[in-house]
Amino acid sequence: MVNEIDGFRRSLGAPSQGSVVTAHCAGTGNRLLAALPPADLGLLTPYFQKVSFEPDAVLVRSGDELDPVYFPHSGAIAFMLDMPDGQTVATTLMGREGALASFSVLGPSLSSVTAVARVAGTASLISAARFRAAFAQSAAIRNIVQVHARAVLLQLQHVAACNALHRVDGRMARWLLQLHDRVPDGRLPVTHDALAQLLGVRRTTVTLTMSKLREAGAVPSDRRGFVEIDRTRLEKAACHCYALMQRTIDRMYCQELAAPAPAHGEQNIPALRRTADVACPR
Ligand SMILES: [Zn+2]
Repeated sequence: MVNEIDGFRRSLGAPSQGSVVTAHCAGTGNRLLAALPPADLGLLTPYFQKVSFEPDAVLVRSGDELDPVYFPHSGAIAFMLDMPDGQTVATTLMGREGALASFSVLGPSLSSVTAVARVAGTASLISAARFRAAFAQSAAIRNIVQVHARAVLLQLQHVAACNALHRVDGRMARWLLQLHDRVPDGRLPVTHDALAQLLGVRRTTVTLTMSKLREAGAVPSDRRGFVEIDRTRLEKAACHCYALMQRTIDRMYCQELAAPAPAHGEQNIPALRRTADVACPR
């Protein structure tokens, strides 16, 4: 089977990742791309390559150059910090609201984390050089990169606070809710090993914590690599970081992913408009 991401990376002179990738057939679902006016989106689309990624596919390794840039349309990608002793812990989770390696607009740079697919999905890829060129031409593209960068920073700050202050059951509930936001139903395709890596804990800790969540009715079943959740009860089990973080990020997307899109060179800021699928928190 042809590995499309590896093929694309090789065409860029990047090392092979060993990712598991299959043919892509999904439409455009990326929230950042959806916020671009047609003319600005048109600076990118001729150069997009569409791919699918499967769970555990490594999209970028720590130390790799941030190239290409991925715009996920579905799925969930975890950013993992690899420690010298072999342990890993997740720093952020990204789905179709984000753009992996978009910070390459700052110039060629190396990734400080490993990006691993936790839930299968699809994405559009573009070389970092092409993306930088479009970024230089388009105020709207600069806007989506800035909004996304602030959302990632906000998530990093919340996760850092959560890891320091909150218990593992609340933290696991938060990760499960974040995953649920990126899958179509209440069955999350996630294993105990994957949860252990997200949380930076032993697998036995995941098993014990999962039984607590099951007793609380937040996880009705957990078998064969699928975790079924009761969203309402899981929200009660989660620490307050999830609600606070998501409300702030949703508000930011709602208010700032407006169609900026002044024609090139214009300085006026048009009235804000909601993107198609951004719910404004009250
Ligand atoms: Zn927390």
